[in-house]
Amino acid sequence: MTAITKQWYDYLEEGRLMGLKCKKCGAVHFPPFPICRECSGTDMEWVEISGEGHLDEIALVTAPDQWFEQYAPYYYAYAHVAEGSVFESMLVNVEGDPADVYEQFLAGKLDHLKLEIQKRDGYSYPVYRCV
Ligand SMILES: [Zn+2]
Repeated sequence: MTAITKQWYDYLEEGRLMGLKCKKCGAVHFPPFPICRECSGTDMEWVEISGEGHLDEIALVTAPDQWFEQYAPYYYAYAHVAEGSVFESMLVNVEGDPADVYEQFLAGKLDHLKLEIQKRDGYSYPVYRCV
C-alpha cells in the first residue's frame, strides 16, 4: 500500500472523505492519485470532498470476487463525485427487481447520491447511498 493510499484509509477511519487537489489546475482526485490526470502536475494537497455524487450507470452484481461474495447480490454505482472525479462503489440502499430498478434509473430517480463511510472487512470504505 502506498503512503497516499494509507493516508486515504486513515482519513476514512476518522470519518473524513479526502481527495488530492492539484495546486496547478485545481482538479480534485478522489480516490487520491499522486499525479494530476488533467495537467500531469505533482504538487498536490489534501482536501475534504462534499460526498455528493451523481449516478452515471448502474449494474447488478450477482457474482463478485471472494471479498464481496457476502454482500451479493447488490447494485453497483458507476458515478462521479461533485468535485469531478469518477468514483465507483456499492450502492447500499437500492434493491429489488432489476427491471424496476433500471426503470427508476432511466427516470432519473436514482441520480443523486451521497457517499458514506462503512466498515467492511476491517476497512472503512466509501459507499453510495441514493438520496
Ligand atoms: Zn492539475
